[in-house]
Amino acid sequence: MRYLQHLSLLVLLSLFIGCTPTPNLPQNDDEGATSALYERTFEANIPNIALQNLFFTQMPKGGDLHHHYSGSIYAETYLEWVKNNDWFIDTCSFKIVKAKGGETCKIVTVDQLIADDTLYRKLLMLWSDKDFDNHSHNQLPPDSNFFNTFGYFSPISDQYMDVGLNIIKQRALNENVSYIESMLSRIGINSSEFFNTDEVKMFNNELRHATTQEEVNALLDRISAVYTRNQAFSAKVQNFVTELERRHEGIDTANFTMRYQTYAIRVLDPLQVYTDLLAGYKAVLSSPLIVGVNIVAPENNTVAINDYTLHMRMFNYLVSKYPQVPHSLHAGELTIGMVEPKELLFHITQARKIAGANRIGHGVDLAYEKESLSLLKELKEYAAVEINLTSNEFILGVAGSEHPYSIYAAYGVPIIISTDDSGVSRANLSHEYVLLASRYHPSYATIKKYVYNSIDYSFLTPAEKAKVRAQLDKKFVVFEKEMSTLAKSLK
Ligand SMILES: [Zn+2]
Repeated sequence: MRYLQHLSLLVLLSLFIGCTPTPNLPQNDDEGATSALYERTFEANIPNIALQNLFFTQMPKGGDLHHHYSGSIYAETYLEWVKNNDWFIDTCSFKIVKAKGGETCKIVTVDQLIADDTLYRKLLMLWSDKDFDNHSHNQLPPDSNFFNTFGYFSPISDQYMDVGLNIIKQRALNENVSYIESMLSRIGINSSEFFNTDEVKMFNNELRHATTQEEVNALLDRISAVYTRNQAFSAKVQNFVTELERRHEGIDTANFTMRYQTYAIRVLDPLQVYTDLLAGYKAVLSSPLIVGVNIVAPENNTVAINDYTLHMRMFNYLVSKYPQVPHSLHAGELTIGMVEPKELLFHITQARKIAGANRIGHGVDLAYEKESLSLLKELKEYAAVEINLTSNEFILGVAGSEHPYSIYAAYGVPIIISTDDSGVSRANLSHEYVLLASRYHPSYATIKKYVYNSIDYSFLTPAEKAKVRAQLDKKFVVFEKEMSTLAKSLK
C-alpha cells in the first residue's frame, strides 16, 4: 500500500512536471539573457571591452552622484565660450585673456589657436588630462595637471552655466543617465565682507589652535552670530539660490532630474571654509534644488592637511545645528607616498565619525586607516562610498587590485559608481562601469544594485527617489529586452 502510494506520488509528480512550462532558461528570460551576455564579455582571456562599451553605454545608469559641474565640461566647449566672449588665449601661459593690452606674450583668438595644431593640442593637454599618458612630453605631476585645469577654465565656466547644465543633461540622456547631483560652486560669500582684517586673523588663529570640539563650537557660535544678525549674509545666499533657479529652468523633465551641492574649498583659511559651509547649509534649507554640502580641492594640499580635523569639526557643529541637511565629503583621496604615513590614518574615519558624512567621496586610503575595521562597519551601516576609478587612477595612480573597491564590495559597504570630473578626464559614466566590470568582474546583479544605490543614496526626497526608481525599473525592462535580442544575434 505504501509502495502504491509512493508510486502514485511519482506518477503525479512526473505528470505535474510534464504539464509545467520548462523553467525559465536564461535565453527565455531577458534579465537572465542580459546577465549571460555580460558574462560573455569575459569568455576570452581578455575581457571584450568593445562589447562592454556597447553594453554599458546602453545600460540605464541611474544617477551620477560624484559630479563636479566645471570639471564635467570639455575643454572644446570652454573654448567656444571664450570665442563667444571675443576673449583671447595667451600662447605662453594658455590662460584666458579678456582684453588686449598689457600682455607680455602673444595672444591669439580661439580660431587662431585652433588653426595652429601644436598650440591647440598643448591647450587641450593643459585644460584637461588629454594625451597625458600616451606620448612623452614635458608634464607636471598628474595631480597638479588635474587640479590646475580648473584654474584655466574658471574665468569662463560660471558665465555660461545655463548652457553648461544643458550640455551635461544632454550627455546624460545620451548615455541613459536619469539623475545628476552636481557640485556646482561655492555660494561665493567672502568672510572679509563681514569681518575686518584683525578679526579675520584672530578667528583663523583661534580656530587653528582650538584642540577640542567644544572649543571649535564656541568659536563657530561667535562667527555664526555675526552672520545671523547681518541681513546681507542671508540676502547673498538668497541671490545665489535665485540665480541657480534661473539657470535650472527647463532642466528637469519627465525622464531627467538634476540637483546641486554647494561646497567649501579646503585649501582656504578656516574662517572662509566655515563661511562657505554655513552659507551652503543655509542654501540647502532655502531651496529644494540644492540638496547637499561638500568640501573640495586637493586633500594633500598643506593647508588641507593641517586643517583637516578642524574642517571635520566644523561639519560636526553644523550637523548638530542642521541635522536635516545631508553632506557628502571628499575623504581619503590619498595614497601611500603622496603624504606622510600619519596622514593616511584617519581621514575617512573622521569624515564619518566626527563629520557624520552621509557619503564618502573616493575613500581610497581605506586600507591605510588606523581604524579601518570599525570604519568599514560604520560605513556599511550609515553611509555609501562614491567610487571614481578614472580619477583615482590618474590623480593617485591607484587602480586594479590596489584600489579598495574590492574591500568595500566584499564587506557590503553600499557602493555608487560616479565620474568625478568627466570633462577633465575625458570620460563618461559608461566608461566608469566598463572599468569596474573589466577590472573586477562583479555580477550583473551587483552592477544593477550599484545603479539603484545611485538613486537610493542620492539626496533626493523620498518622493523624488520613488519617481526616478520607477523610471529605472521601466528602463531596465527595455534594456534587458534589447540585450536579449542582441545576444541572439551574436554568434
Ligand atoms: Zn570630486
